[in-house]
Amino acid sequence: MESFDYYEILEVSQTSDKETIKKAYRKMALKYHPDRNPDDKEAEEMFKKINEAYEVLSDESKRQIYDKYGKKGLENNGFSGFSGKDFGDIFGDLGSIFESAFGSGFGFGSPRKQESKVKFMPDYLYKLDLTFREAIFGCKKNIKTKYKAFCKDCDGTGAKDGKLQTCSHCQGKGQTFMRQGFMTFAQTCSKCNGEGHIAKDKCTSCHAEGFVFVEEEFEINVPEGVDDENRIRIIGKGNQQKNGSRGDLYILTYVESDDYFVRDGIDVYIEVPVFFTSIPLGTSVKIPSLKGELELRIPQNSEDGSRFVFKGEGIKEVNKNNYGNLIAIIKIMYPKSITEEQRELLLELHNSFGYESEPHKNLFEECFDRIKGWLKPETKTKGKARKK
Ligand SMILES: [Zn+2]
Ligand SMILES: [Zn+2]
Repeated sequence: MESFDYYEILEVSQTSDKETIKKAYRKMALKYHPDRNPDDKEAEEMFKKINEAYEVLSDESKRQIYDKYGKKGLENNGFSGFSGKDFGDIFGDLGSIFESAFGSGFGFGSPRKQESKVKFMPDYLYKLDLTFREAIFGCKKNIKTKYKAFCKDCDGTGAKDGKLQTCSHCQGKGQTFMRQGFMTFAQTCSKCNGEGHIAKDKCTSCHAEGFVFVEEEFEINVPEGVDDENRIRIIGKGNQQKNGSRGDLYILTYVESDDYFVRDGIDVYIEVPVFFTSIPLGTSVKIPSLKGELELRIPQNSEDGSRFVFKGEGIKEVNKNNYGNLIAIIKIMYPKSITEEQRELLLELHNSFGYESEPHKNLFEECFDRIKGWLKPETKTKGKARKK
C-alpha cells in the first residue's frame, strides 16, 4: 500500500465528522472521476486514493483502527487498499447532478455490475376490466396472461449457449465518452446498452431477449368492494427470476361506471327526480338500492338538492366488515310545457293562496318606499323619509 494520509488526501481533519468527510469525498470524486478525465493516469490514481480514503473514513470501525494503528492496523485486519467497492449511492447522486444540468443520457455510470443486471422486473401489471356490479359485489375472474421467464437455453444472456464477447464499440467499458467544451461526459454504450459485452451469436430460443413468455391461465377472486384503479396483488404469479422463484402479479382494475349510481369510495349516490307538485305535498318514492329497493320519504317543502342518507346501504370496504352509505339527492323537475287547462288550474291554485302567493310584494313594499326616499333630494324628503 502506497503511503499517503487519508485525511490529507480528502483535505479534512482528524476531527471532521461523517458529513464533512462525505462532502469532501463527493467534491474530490467529482473532480477526479475517470469519466471526466479520460486517459489521465494521474487523475485515475488520485481517484483510487480518494476512494480508498473514503472507504476507510466512512466506516466507523475502520476509521478507529486507522486512527490508532494507521494503515498497518488495517492491513492486519485484512484491508488492502481500495477494493473497488460500489459507492453506488454517492455516484447515483453525482449522476443526478449531471443529469439535471445536461439532461439525461449523460452522467456518471455507477460502477457496473453486469452479472446481476436484471432484464425485467419480477412483478408485472395486468389490467382487468370489471363491471360496476362485479366490483361492488366481488367476483371470480379468469385471467389469461403471459409472464416472463429467464431463458434457460442462454441463461438469460440472450447469447447462443450463453457465449458473450467484449463489446468492441466501448471496449467493454459499457460507456462511450463525449467531449463538450472542456468537459467530457460518459454516455451509455448504444451497442451493448452499457453491459460491456454482446452476444457472439443470438440465442434462437428467446430471440436474444434473455427471456421467454410463458402462457398461463388461472382464476382469481376479486374481493367485494374494489374500486377503479385498485391493485390486487397475486403473490407468486409474476415473472420468473433466474433462481426459479416468481414475483407478484398486480391486477389493476378498471371499473365501468353505472348509469344510475355514482360511486365515491364506499359511498354511492343516486339522483332522484321529483316533480314540482310533490314538493309542497311531500311524497314517498321507491328508489333503487344496491341490494334492491328503498323507500325514500321526501318531507313537505324539501329543497332541490336535498340529501337523504341511508346508512350502511353503500359499498363494502375491501376486506373489512364496513359498509358505506347510499345518498339520495333530490332534483326538482318542472314541466317542460303546460296546456291551457293546466295554466288555468295553476292560476286558480295560485290565487287560492291569496296574500301568501305574493311574498315578494309583501317583503318589498316598504323597501321600495325607502329607496324612493334615497333618490329624492334630501331637503324635500326630510320629513317623510325620516318618519318613524
Ligand atoms: Zn459497448
Ligand atoms: Zn435465450
